Amino acid sequence: MIKSESGHLKIARPLASGGFSTNDGLRPYRLAAHPRTGGALTSTRPVRVSDTVSIGGGAITVIAGPCSVESAEMILSIAHSVKSMGAVMLRGGAFKPRTSPYSFNGLGPSALEFLENARSVSALPIVTEAMDTRQVEMVARTADMVQVGARNMQNFSLLEEVGRCGRPVLLKRGLSATITDLLLAAEHVMAAGNSDVVLCERGIRTFETSTRATLDVSAIPVLKEETHLPVIVDPSHAGGRSRLVLPLALASIAAGADGIMVEVHPDPEAALSDGDQSLTIEEFGELMRALEPVAAAVGRTM
Ligand code: PEP
Ligand code: MN
Repeated sequence: MIKSESGHLKIARPLASGGFSTNDGLRPYRLAAHPRTGGALTSTRPVRVSDTVSIGGGAITVIAGPCSVESAEMILSIAHSVKSMGAVMLRGGAFKPRTSPYSFNGLGPSALEFLENARSVSALPIVTEAMDTRQVEMVARTADMVQVGARNMQNFSLLEEVGRCGRPVLLKRGLSATITDLLLAAEHVMAAGNSDVVLCERGIRTFETSTRATLDVSAIPVLKEETHLPVIVDPSHAGGRSRLVLPLALASIAAGADGIMVEVHPDPEAALSDGDQSLTIEEFGELMRALEPVAAAVGRTM
């Protein structure tokens, strides 16, 4: 018999106190929740992205690259630079969700070719966004990891499609999504057959206007309590200004994040998207140097 939704929610909702029941059977996300072995919580299950990169183990994963892929030369030179400074994955948007329809919205399929070339030369695995179910197959052919952006976190058709794409998924938290919403979105991907999901806190919309979004640092330990899925943080979209990226990244690693994803551009003022929040190559080097002692302090390596 199919249970009515209200009946289901009565047993599945987090407690009114805002916390979660400790009984697994009452959790609305059964695949994303920690399995319980003898009453003890198990820890994060690393997600394997390539032969060289797994997210969620002892090492902090640093993903870096431009907001948008702007040319073949640009993505290749950024790949070389960030790799030499310790990044282990390359990011770069081919299809860009933009608030205004008149903003640059990515180079599309040719950017995927440029990313593929940058990967074969630099050996850095790639993460890039699929905005639409129709793009998933094409993106998954190039990407080592497929990104679902904040604005699409509850696009359930897209979640199902990436659940069948055969690649790990980087799922970004929606601008007004609760932690439970994020976990349920991950559950959609997992229920479609893909358990390789990495969660990304990227700031939520609050009443605060001095930053682009408000980084929800508390989401990191809450997610760690709730799920075995690795958790990374994008301090670039959270802060919206390059000066904020370093302190937000340090706070994220100190709070237990498994990695960070940051936007880097050789000339942020000339960037076609998100220049304000993009680090220069030199600033990225400073960030990497600053991260090391913080990672060591919480028992992680870089
Ligand atoms: C991005 O990472 O390229 C992006 C568009 O971020 P978000 O979906 O978090 O806004
Ligand atoms: Mn961006």
